[in-house]
Amino acid sequence: MSIPTSADVVVIGGGPTGSVAAADLARKGRHVVVLEKGHHPRDQVGESLIPDFWRFVDIIGATDKILAEGFLNKNGAIVSWNKTFRGHTFGDFGFDKPAMHVERDRFDQILFEHAGDCGAELHSGTAVTNVESGVDESGVEYSRMSYRTEDGVEGTITAPVVIDASGQAGVISRQLGIRVINPEFRYLSVWGHFTGSRYLSIDGEAHEAHEVWEHRPVTFVSAVKEAGDAGWSWHIQLREKTSVGLVIPLEVVKVARKEGETWEDYFLRKTREVPVLRELLENAEYIPGTFRTIRDYSSTATQFSGPGYILAGDAAGFIDPIFSVGVVLGMYSALAASWAADRLVATPDKAEHIRKMYNHQLKGRIEVARSLALPRYRVDGEVSETAKEAVRFERTGVQELMYVVTQFTTRNENWADMIGGTPPELKENQLREYETLAGIGLEAVAAN
Ligand SMILES: Cc1cc2nc3c(=O)[nH]c(=O)nc-3n(C[C@H](O)[C@H](O)[C@H](O)COP(=O)(O)OP(=O)(O)OC[C@H]3O[C@@H](n4cnc5c(N)ncnc54)[C@H](O)[C@@H]3O)c2cc1C
Repeated sequence: MSIPTSADVVVIGGGPTGSVAAADLARKGRHVVVLEKGHHPRDQVGESLIPDFWRFVDIIGATDKILAEGFLNKNGAIVSWNKTFRGHTFGDFGFDKPAMHVERDRFDQILFEHAGDCGAELHSGTAVTNVESGVDESGVEYSRMSYRTEDGVEGTITAPVVIDASGQAGVISRQLGIRVINPEFRYLSVWGHFTGSRYLSIDGEAHEAHEVWEHRPVTFVSAVKEAGDAGWSWHIQLREKTSVGLVIPLEVVKVARKEGETWEDYFLRKTREVPVLRELLENAEYIPGTFRTIRDYSSTATQFSGPGYILAGDAAGFIDPIFSVGVVLGMYSALAASWAADRLVATPDKAEHIRKMYNHQLKGRIEVARSLALPRYRVDGEVSETAKEAVRFERTGVQELMYVVTQFTTRNENWADMIGGTPPELKENQLREYETLAGIGLEAVAAN
């Protein structure tokens, strides 16, 4: 099918953000065209999903398709940090739907195809190469996207508004020079996949890979010694393999590699050094060719929309992957962007007001993510009012969960400031503590 020359809304990128936005707009009856550079199924990092994502897939009607795939439910998380082993389940915070470990190539493909089923026009293998947005001579906002297909066909498509959901590529924010790397989060991440790894369940016991359907896994996060309070590893058990990764500050990683080591060698060495992780991986086999790396992925655009364009998902901002909020933040912004784009098409005279609302909503979410991730959260010396407001709007269970996860990593000393009072009184089991994990005691970690 050839790419049309105009549409109501163009979406750049068919990751979870672009697909959710496109599905929602198509369900509202908009002519929406998605231009996706790659082809699904395609590689993507970020396999741990918190249960909030169900709210968004419910809204676009994709729940049955996700359920039918049979992804692995996870129980919660266990974190080894600062000589403590702590964990939580989501059920203890009032979530009635499960968190999941998903193979992102399949998960993203399901959502992308669902957008097509809803009526969005999908064009894979088509990279947007330039975006021209603004206000024409008659005062009407527009966006003109230039693209190039993998067969070398070039063209343009025009729409009243474009949603940039191009992820880390940040097509528009880079082009406009409004993408700012967060100076507090300058990291390198390296990861790969293994078979035959053991994994942890919420009781702190290690299980064999084939037991995943009997004993649900948790996401296991462990601090990495040389990175102090700032770097960590993840262990995410999937249906038939395990995703393992490291997140290390750039200034630490610069000197961490041994002479002659490649980044892949460094990654494999570290996975055998981090206590508990190394025990889980004792009999595991690395899957060659799965090694990936990314640096400086924490960025925020200085504005989230302008005449003719809206930024959503990672293309608008991404902070830090420790609490698995990336996909959920992407989906949240996708629905907010869909609302804004639909309103911009219907009532262009209210453009300024619509953009203001969108910017405010997204800023609140991004600031909350920052407040969870930063050891000491301040914007210009103050706790942001937008973040406070966004946290206060959350239900009590979510506030308690935010409080608990920040306790795991000593990443947040300012929780009381955020919620404007004393920390929540926790119920039994909301914050679990362990003496041993996978048979490894705290002393072994402390001595490491
Ligand atoms: C190390 C690391 C670990 C993470 N772990 C987690 C986790 O456990 N859980 C979690 O929820 N999140 C995690 N994240 C974050 C998560 O990966 C992202 O937040 C999420 O994928 C964002 O979705 P998106 O749709 O905005 O972008 P993406 O998923 O990146 O999709 C963007 C799409 O745009 C396409 N595209 C790019 N350029 C163009 C172009 N010029 N033209 C057309 N199409 C284009 C790409 O091909 C891609 O398909 C992690 C991130 C990192 C860096």
